[in-house]
Amino acid sequence: MSTDVTAEDLGRLLELQAVDDEVRRLEHQLAGLDEQQRLDELEAQDARLAEGDVDLGQRLDDVRRQQRQVEGEIDALGRRLDEERTRLYEGALSTAREVQAAEAEIASTTRRRGEHEDQLLELMEQVEELEGRVAELQQVRADLAGRIAEAAAARDAAAQALLVRIAEVRVRRDPIADALPAGLLERYAAAAARGGGTGVGELRDNACTACRITFPMSEINAYLTGDALTTCSQCGRLLIIPD
Ligand SMILES: [Zn+2]
Repeated sequence: MSTDVTAEDLGRLLELQAVDDEVRRLEHQLAGLDEQQRLDELEAQDARLAEGDVDLGQRLDDVRRQQRQVEGEIDALGRRLDEERTRLYEGALSTAREVQAAEAEIASTTRRRGEHEDQLLELMEQVEELEGRVAELQQVRADLAGRIAEAAAARDAAAQALLVRIAEVRVRRDPIADALPAGLLERYAAAAARGGGTGVGELRDNACTACRITFPMSEINAYLTGDALTTCSQCGRLLIIPD
C-alpha cells in the first residue's frame, strides 16, 4: 500500500463516494419515475383501444361491402322487373302461357327484391351501430390522447428536474476527482466499477462500511497498525482506517 496518501486525499475519497452515491440515487430515481409508469400505463391502454379500433373498422368495411352488394342486387332485380313489365304491358307476348310466365317472373322477382330490401335495412342498421361505436371509441381515444400528452409533459418535467440535479452534482464531482492523485482515482474507479458503484469504505465498529462485514479482532489490529488506506479483505474495495 502506498504510504504517501494524505489525510486530505482520504477526505476527498469519501467526498467523491458521497457525490457518486448521490448521482446513483438520482439516476435510480430517473429510471423509476412514477410519471413514466403513469405514461406507460396510458400508452398501453391506448394500444389496446387501437386494436379495438382496427377490429371495428374491419367489421364496418365488411358490412359496408355487403351493403353495396345487396344494393347492386336490388338494382339488378329492379331492372329485371322493369323489363318483364315492359314485355308484359307493351304486348310483346302473344300467348297466355307467355303472359303467365311473365307474371310469375314478376311475382318472384318482386318477392326476392323485397327480401333483399329487408336484408339491406338490417345491414344499414348494422352500419349505423358500428359507426356509432367507432365514433365513441374515437372520442375515448381523443380524450386519452389528451391525458397521454399531459402525462408525457409531467414525465418530461420530472426527468428534466432530475437531469439538472445530476448535472449539478457532476459539476461538484469534477474538482474533487481532479484533486486526487491519478493512481488513487484509478484504484477508486476500478473498485467502484467492481463494487456496484461503491469504491471505498471505512473501518467503523470493527466492520467495513462498504460491505458491512465485521472483521475478526486479529485483522482489526493489523488494520489499525497499518496504512491509513488499505483494501478490505472481504469486498476488495478501498478501506480507510481512521486514526
Ligand atoms: Zn468491505
